[in-house]
Amino acid sequence: MARKQNKFDYDAQLAPYAARESESRGRRHTESSPNYRGEYQRDRDRVVHSAAFRRLEYKTQVFVNHEGDMFRTRLTHSLEVAQIGRSIARVLRLNEDLTEAIALAHDLGHTPFGHAGQDALNACMKDYGGFEHNLQSLRVVDELEERYAEFSGLNLSYETREGILKHCSANNAKKLGDVAERFLKKRQPTLEAQLANLADEVAYNNHDIDDGLRAGLLTIAQMCEVPLFADQYELVRQRYPDLAERRIIHEVVRRMINRQVTDLIDTTQATLSALGDDFDAEAIRAAKAPCVAFSEEMARQNQTLKQFLRRNLYEHYRVRRMTSKAARVLEALFEAFMSDPRLLPPETEAKLAAHEKISAKNGKARAVADYVAGMTDRYAFREYERLFTPGELT
Ligand code: MG
Repeated sequence: MARKQNKFDYDAQLAPYAARESESRGRRHTESSPNYRGEYQRDRDRVVHSAAFRRLEYKTQVFVNHEGDMFRTRLTHSLEVAQIGRSIARVLRLNEDLTEAIALAHDLGHTPFGHAGQDALNACMKDYGGFEHNLQSLRVVDELEERYAEFSGLNLSYETREGILKHCSANNAKKLGDVAERFLKKRQPTLEAQLANLADEVAYNNHDIDDGLRAGLLTIAQMCEVPLFADQYELVRQRYPDLAERRIIHEVVRRMINRQVTDLIDTTQATLSALGDDFDAEAIRAAKAPCVAFSEEMARQNQTLKQFLRRNLYEHYRVRRMTSKAARVLEALFEAFMSDPRLLPPETEAKLAAHEKISAKNGKARAVADYVAGMTDRYAFREYERLFTPGELT
């Protein structure tokens, strides 16, 4: 349908290699174009209004939600990813709306309790096709949201869906069809998807330092083993010798983010300008490697930081205690619903029956996994209490 004349022509200001909605592969279900918004803007808005997005508020990033109000949750993490992604997209003249839509949707499929929850659910689903949070994010926007009269899911644009699907095995790619074709054809996603992916990395690497220090699981002395941190820490200490520790930490972390973002912009800009003027979005897809990247030096430093965080934060015994408890809760819920689906709320039980018609082998497990994965941390704990704690009557 022809666009209304008064619509702001967003495509016109983009770089030649940016994703343009005029070249979009469109939505699975045809809809008329919005009058006063772009298509990717509409995608972003649909994500923000979804139930799965609101539930991110009570889902673990690293720390279980009830451990403290100051820590990141999946929701605040997703907002930070969107902020970093949008800032970089603007400088590179990429499509900010598409970057933001992907960033806000990228974690919608996460289970309660972070990666421990995902691993536990994946183990439960071993004989039923497995569980992967990234695939689940796509499933949420394609099928699980129930908000529109004419379709299930959010009916997002191809490029947003493709960007949400960050990794995918060849087997799954064959099942998913066109949205996953790049994994079979060995092509790159849009620059916006590449950017959202690295913005995710910048966000969590830095906010996990902040949260880890706040929780007392990391110390500043320990963090100084990491050159990226130590360099900025020295600068801040020299400039502000009497500053309170909380402010020092924030000053260091914000400088670290700035360094990583600046490096990403400079490196990517250099790569893109070396490609010349004729390089368009199609050529970006055909390229051998992603064009959005850190310099080699920064990639190395980030690797050191990640390894440090794995050893000292994600594998900290206090984090492990929390995650092993969480894994047991999810396993117990999954087993209980599998052995007696009548324990499920009626609408979930009805979905289970519908899934079983589609797949006699995996249908029941998939419906249970959808239900469990959709839970927030606190809902999962409450369900556990309702099912297993004597004396709990509701
Ligand atoms: Mg993330």
